[in-house]
Amino acid sequence: MAAYTTERVVSVHHWNDTLFTFRTTRDKALRFQSGQFVMMGLLVDGKPLLRAYSFASAHYEEELEFFSIKVPDGPLTSRLQHLEVGDEVLVGTKAHGTLVLHDLLPARHVYLFGTGTGLAPFLSLIKDPELYERFEKVILVHGVRLKNDLAYQQMIEEELPGNEFFGEDVKAKLVYYPTVTREPFRNSGRLTDLIVSGKLAADVGLDQINPQSDRAMICGGPSMLKETCAHLESLGLTAAPRLGEPGHFVFERAFVER
Ligand SMILES: Cc1cc2nc3c(=O)[nH]c(=O)nc-3n(C[C@H](O)[C@H](O)[C@H](O)COP(=O)(O)OP(=O)(O)OC[C@H]3O[C@@H](n4cnc5c(N)ncnc54)[C@H](O)[C@@H]3O)c2cc1C
Repeated sequence: MAAYTTERVVSVHHWNDTLFTFRTTRDKALRFQSGQFVMMGLLVDGKPLLRAYSFASAHYEEELEFFSIKVPDGPLTSRLQHLEVGDEVLVGTKAHGTLVLHDLLPARHVYLFGTGTGLAPFLSLIKDPELYERFEKVILVHGVRLKNDLAYQQMIEEELPGNEFFGEDVKAKLVYYPTVTREPFRNSGRLTDLIVSGKLAADVGLDQINPQSDRAMICGGPSMLKETCAHLESLGLTAAPRLGEPGHFVFERAFVER
């Protein structure tokens, strides 16, 4: 099987100077689970330049969606940010990743913790009816620096609740908790502080996070991951030891620091 297929860009949306979203065609043979990622990129000087990207689209959608950072001197994203409708991108044929629902032990609530583009895998998950079958409450926490980094707010707050298939579940179960660190907003502070202080749980009307009732999925930069995992462990939760062996929480790096 080829390592990747060539897909065509069907739409591009720039949220601000640092974030954008694009959709592409999808190879019929590509299969993935909500929360997984794929290698994606461009042909540069005749060679594939690929990076890991979470699927932001649901596993059942006909097109693929990616939510991307723009790193000014980043080998891939300095080019990718100039994508236009009709351009070609390379998409891997194999999905990978640890942010999968079947690696969470049963419980009542699940927290989805994402910072920056770490929101991407959760965009796929919150469109998956299985998420709402598994949990009574889904708390989507998106941590960003500035208000205008809160991409997808309208989709989450206005479009999803109107979905003809699972909109009622979204209305009953999904709690969206955006938080901003560098300017005033209705929720502010770092995600890790909000967990430890118990403010997050209190704000969403729940008891402090505990291994009996709560599960978590985490996606962010390396330091956010390290801190969040440590905090959850201090609250008695244990990580899924490896793929296929469930635990109280699972995590994925949103990027690698170089
Ligand atoms: C499992 C996994 C899933 C990923 N999913 C996504 C995704 O859905 N969307 C996405 O934009 N990126 C994602 N990334 C990061 C992505 O693989 C690339 O790093 C990113 O596209 C930048 O590529 P680049 O070649 O321009 O720069 P790189 O050389 O890859 O990165 C340069 C530097 O930019 C910073 N950086 C890279 N990516 C990010 C980011 N996403 N947010 C903040 N800082 C960053 C880091 O400090 C890095 O050292 C993911 C990474 C991993 C490991």
